[in-house]
Amino acid sequence: MLEIDWQDGDTTSLAHCQLRLGCRCAECVALRRRGENLVAPVDIEVTDIAPYGSNALHLTFSDGHCRGIFPFEYLRKLADR
Ligand SMILES: [Zn+2]
Repeated sequence: MLEIDWQDGDTTSLAHCQLRLGCRCAECVALRRRGENLVAPVDIEVTDIAPYGSNALHLTFSDGHCRGIFPFEYLRKLADR
């Protein structure tokens, strides 16, 4: 799980698999547009987390996928689904 503690005291927990499936990079968005389902192994892991600008994270996954930019706002929404 990826846990984020927000400044307002809230905490968000996201499974790495959930993050991978929620990736919004051009490649993944194109797949969804074609109606293809994204697949991710349940044991997929986030292998690297880097800040991207001041309001997003750049995540790298154990399947080698490293194009996902996750705005904090989106991460919060993803957890509520
Ligand atoms: Zn992607």
